[in-house]
Amino acid sequence: MDSQRRIFLASAARIAALTAAAGSLAGSGASAATRLNGAGYPFALGVASGSPLPDAVVIWTRINYDPLNAGATPAIALAVRWEVADDEAFRRIVAKGQAMATPELAHSVHVDVTGLEPGRWYWYRFIFGDAVSPIGRTRTAPAAESMPASLKLAVASCQHWEFGSYAAHRHLATAAPDLVAFLGDYIYEWGAYQLQHPQRAVRRDESFTLEQYRARYAQYKSDADLQRAHLVAPWIVTWDDHEVANDYGNERDELLTPTFLQRRAAAYQAFYEHMPLRLLPLGRRGFVDMRIYQRYDWGRLARFHVLDDRQYRANHACPKPNRGGSNSVTTRACPDLMRPERSMLGTAQEQWLQEGLKKSPARWNILAQQTLMAQSSQVPITRPGDERIWTDGWDGYPMARQQLLDTLQASGARNPLVLSGDVHTFYATELSRDAMRPVSRANPVLATEFCGTSITSSSRPQSRTDEYVAMNPHIRYGRSDKRGYMLLEITPGKTTTWFQGLDNVRDSASNIATLASFTVRDGKAGVQQS
Ligand code: FE
Ligand code: CA
Repeated sequence: MDSQRRIFLASAARIAALTAAAGSLAGSGASAATRLNGAGYPFALGVASGSPLPDAVVIWTRINYDPLNAGATPAIALAVRWEVADDEAFRRIVAKGQAMATPELAHSVHVDVTGLEPGRWYWYRFIFGDAVSPIGRTRTAPAAESMPASLKLAVASCQHWEFGSYAAHRHLATAAPDLVAFLGDYIYEWGAYQLQHPQRAVRRDESFTLEQYRARYAQYKSDADLQRAHLVAPWIVTWDDHEVANDYGNERDELLTPTFLQRRAAAYQAFYEHMPLRLLPLGRRGFVDMRIYQRYDWGRLARFHVLDDRQYRANHACPKPNRGGSNSVTTRACPDLMRPERSMLGTAQEQWLQEGLKKSPARWNILAQQTLMAQSSQVPITRPGDERIWTDGWDGYPMARQQLLDTLQASGARNPLVLSGDVHTFYATELSRDAMRPVSRANPVLATEFCGTSITSSSRPQSRTDEYVAMNPHIRYGRSDKRGYMLLEITPGKTTTWFQGLDNVRDSASNIATLASFTVRDGKAGVQQS
């Protein structure tokens, strides 16, 4: 971090002339900025951008002087200036303004920069007092009617702090993607964990309150490699369970805590505060409900249907006695699984998705979502009902999954591609309507799924994953012994996916290598290993 900070301070000196105008900052912000001069660097959590549209992108920062001490930042509103430029040297500034960073939103700043040109790169930075933020690179989505020649997409999820370095983010940044999709478990909420990677500050308290979730994000966002991954491209994001609590679903946590909804609201608010999200109007209950499912178009090349399969799902089927959350069950022993009203996305999101698929002009329809969609039985299946599945992913909602695949087929949406996270394993899978029967003309492959591994979070031994692949023939590839990320190149004619695996997650200088790559051709669902 030190060399990075030195560069930022040097760039701060370069534009000293600009910051001389700091006197024009509004009221309390100006005095606080003056008072805090020399108190440290207020952009310790870096910057980010995301939620790109053809004419707009959200830029983000949070004024924070010390990731491990929220008290280092005064609890007053602070005026922060922002600039967006055509060029990295900020010679041609195309938009600028001032935003208030208020303690009510953890001094986060979200600016929805509008009036931009489609399909091009921009650079942005924030200025507070004498301090200038790192310079972020971002881009707008291509014009609606255009057909871009390619989109380079990086996909990441699951970055449990204690399990390793964020070397995968360093490599992701080096790959210079156009867009990053983050599919959940940005933080892990739980308490004391044995640190498996030396020399990183840890928090030992489990997150329950708004202050605790904010502190957790600050800890994670202090990482220089994670900051780098945010600096290179806009992100589109969804969450999984650990942004709130392990294995929660809808309004219920594992321990059936009566006050869980308060905890969820705190976690949702902290998520918003730390992500480059365009916040949709909140309802009467404030952050108790927060809609994050959203569509993003990349011209006519790709439509991203970013889903939320946590907030609206039916309760987990057949939990352990007096518990909520997941379980491992056979479908024969748990008839509840098959109840047709058990929704994964909730009715409103299902209808929204159906509309978005039906009207999609896109060559590739990408479902960016958190949990594995392919059936993944833990035991051999000799007859229907034998399969033993984990109830937290789509396996716990088989009728909703079938309905989704029906919708995909009926909508006529071209080239459905499912991206997933959560299970800390690289998977390439082929999704047919009836997962228990072999693929045939009557049971065709309707969509292709690529599941990323984790940035750091640990998984089961590879020998066990080899058994999964053998027992579930529609899973064409599985690799759980490697941490890393996925890189996709999407073109009108084909999509290529590379599974990028680190040599050693505990080594921040680790190399990364391609473990496998797959091609999906336009008009033909299913994977071809390349
Ligand atoms: Fe995870
Ligand atoms: Ca998860």
